[in-house]
Order: sequence, then C-alpha cells, then structure tokens
Amino acid sequence: MADTFQAPRGTRDILAPESERWHVLVARFAHAARQAGYRPVIPPMFEDLAVFQRVGESTDVVRKEMFLLEARDGDARQALRPEQTASVCRMFAQHRPATPWKVFYSGSNFRYERPQKGRYRQFDQVGAEVLGTDDPDVDVEIIALAWRFFEQIGLRQVSLQLNSLGDGEGRANYLASLREYFGVHVGALSAQSRETLSINPLRVLDSKRPEDGEIVAGAPRMVDHLSPQDRAHFDGVRAGLDALHIPYELTPRLVRGLDYYTRTTFEFASAALDAAQNAVGGGGRYDGLVADLGGPGVAGVGFALGVDRILLACDAEETFGPPPSAVDVFVVSTVAGTDALELTAELRAAGIGADRAFDSRSMKSQMKAADRSGARLALIVGSQELESGNVMLRPLRADTHQQLVPRVEVVARVRAALDATES
Ligand code: AMP
Repeated sequence: MADTFQAPRGTRDILAPESERWHVLVARFAHAARQAGYRPVIPPMFEDLAVFQRVGESTDVVRKEMFLLEARDGDARQALRPEQTASVCRMFAQHRPATPWKVFYSGSNFRYERPQKGRYRQFDQVGAEVLGTDDPDVDVEIIALAWRFFEQIGLRQVSLQLNSLGDGEGRANYLASLREYFGVHVGALSAQSRETLSINPLRVLDSKRPEDGEIVAGAPRMVDHLSPQDRAHFDGVRAGLDALHIPYELTPRLVRGLDYYTRTTFEFASAALDAAQNAVGGGGRYDGLVADLGGPGVAGVGFALGVDRILLACDAEETFGPPPSAVDVFVVSTVAGTDALELTAELRAAGIGADRAFDSRSMKSQMKAADRSGARLALIVGSQELESGNVMLRPLRADTHQQLVPRVEVVARVRAALDATES
C-alpha cells in the first residue's frame, strides 16, 4: 500500500467546521474594513527577494525565516511573502494611486519558524493600511478598526499595547544612547543580541532571551527621546484613542518584529492565549517604507492580525462558533432516474440551499445523511408520490407533520415551510 502523505510540518489542514469559522471571520473583517472606506488589494504571494530585504534586513523574519524560491539557475531571487505590508508599499510605489490610499487584504504568509500551537510556517492574516497621510487621526482610525473587529467577534480579553518609536532626529539620538548603553553591557548580552546590536540596536529591545532580560529592562526609553513633533503626534494618537474610549497600555519597549516602523507602534495581546503566542495582531506607522521601495516619500500606517491565533482566542473565550448549516433542504430519493437531480438543481437555482444523497442508498441511510446535513426539511421523492405528481415534504427539526406537495409547486411550498420554521 502507498504511504499516506501528511501535510508539511508547520502547515495545517483546516476542515469544517473550523474552515467555516475561518471564512466568516475573514468576511466580517472585510465588511468592517469596507464600511470604514477601505478597499481590497490582492498582492502576489511572492516578491523579489530585495523587496523583503529592503524592509527587514536586521530581523529574524527576513534573515532566517524566509522561504526562498530557487530559480532555474539555482539563484534565489524571489521569496514567498512573510507578511504583506511590504507588498502593499511596493504596489503603491508601482501604481501611484490617489491618496489617502486605504486598503485591506487577507491571505497566507510564510515564515520558516519552529512550529508550535499558534505558530505555523504558513499562517493567515487580515490587515489594513493607509498610505499618503501622517494625520494622527489615521493611526487612531486604524487601531479602532482592529479594536472594533475584535469586539464584533466577541473577544473580550484583548488588550492594546502602544508605543512611539519616534522618527528623524529624535530617533537618531535615541539610537545613539541605546548603542552607548548596550555598549557598556555588551559582555553580558546573549551572542544573538550582540550580533543584532551591530545591525540595529532597537531590535535588541525585542529580545526574548532570558539572559538579556535585565539589561533590556534598564535600557533608555524612546518615549523619553521623542522630538517635539513626534511627541505632539503621539499625544494626538492618545487623545484620539481616549475620545473613542479605546483603552491602551503604554509599553515603552514595544518595537515589533520588522524594521520599518516609525512613530506609532502597537500590538494586540489576548489574555486567553499562552503568553508565548498571545499576540493576535500588531502594526504601526512606517513613514519611510514606500520611499525605501523606490516610491514617493509618503507616510503609511497599518496593521496585520493573525487569523489562526484569533480563532484560537475565540475557542479559549468560547465565542464565535461555526455558522449554521449551509443547506435548508435535503433531497431523499427512492427511485431511479433524474428526478432527484432535477429537483435539487431547481431548488438551488431558486436560491434555496439544497443537498442530496447519492449511490442509491437505502431510505434509512439517506435520512441519516439528511439529519447530518443540518437541513431543516427533507424532500422525499418516491414512486407513489411521483405517480400522483407529488413529493413528500418532511420537517426535520420541527414537530410538525409531513405533507404531500405538488411537484410543480415545490419551490413555493419549500419557501413557505422554511418561513414557518424560521428562528
Ligand atoms: P507580525 O507582523 O509578525 O507581528 O504578525 C502579526 C500577527 O500575525 C501576529 O500578531 C500573529 O497573530 C500573527 N502571526 C505572525 N507570525 C505567525 C506565525 N508564524 N503563525 C501564526 N500566526 C502568526
């Protein structure tokens, strides 16, 4: 016998009802985003390697976790996307749409991580980005979009962590003082952090290694180095969040996993998940990213939320169950011929969700299948009924009697029966 293949390590097969929840969740996000004036974009699954290198040279995501695509000549020049913000900015640089450009997306990303619960090599995100304005109200709008989405799907244990990484001169001064500070303590840092320090000292703040903990905790804080303009921007964001009654916690060491962030950065954590994988989303401002990708110097802000983890959080909070059955009617047939085929097609064409049994199974087995389908009604096609021009309509969930209905009126009668059993 042939070996049974397994899904590759770090990937998941998502079957119903989980896959049903997945689709509903993405649809709800799309609805919320469209309602706030965002329109969908669909970036490619892979980009030139340089696009990702440009945005994250000092990050683990880009240095160690990329899925490189080997070209025919053995050179890796393209990579599967580890995230989609870089692609959205590359799209902007290429197409130069009118600003503010408000977009949302959903889809898979790929990172070669060590798989565990809530951490996969292929995972999905929904996200939104606004390019072309640095108005702090836009930072607030973006955060509010994610916040309300979490509320809408019933999550009550999500918290917002907020920081500003500054920009320009303030950022340069801060980097200088960080370098100085870490320079003094370099001997005690992990080998990993010593390496990171030479590339980007900010990223050392993101170290989760226990040996770095104490040194990171004592490091200078960006919020103490913000320029007057960056401080005013951050104050604007905070005032906006307060006005919308969105609570947040100031987290001075929040730097996020990619290099491109400036000013506002934020993360959403779920208290219902294990601490190691409790981030359900994050984002921030990236005012230099489009220019880095060869586009005009436009500001940008956005977020990405992890679909897999949000669903885990929904499980943990026992909210947001699978949607009800997609079919209303199940067609059961004890006769040969095309009657069941035609009847099912007719119902579907009339917009009624319908399924049926195949393989000429016994009546008993077909009724079992009808029950499993979640349909509210069964339509039974038998030779006696057909001879008199009827089919039998049997309620499956209600305590009412079955009735013969004329075959020619079946759509109208099914509709009436469905209306009668609603709610
Ligand atoms: P990031 O931009 O890396 O902060 O990712 C945004 C969100 O995507 C995170 O908060 C997670 O919810 C989710 N995410 C990131 N990496 C993974 C992964 N390997 N597996 C599952 N979800 C992930």
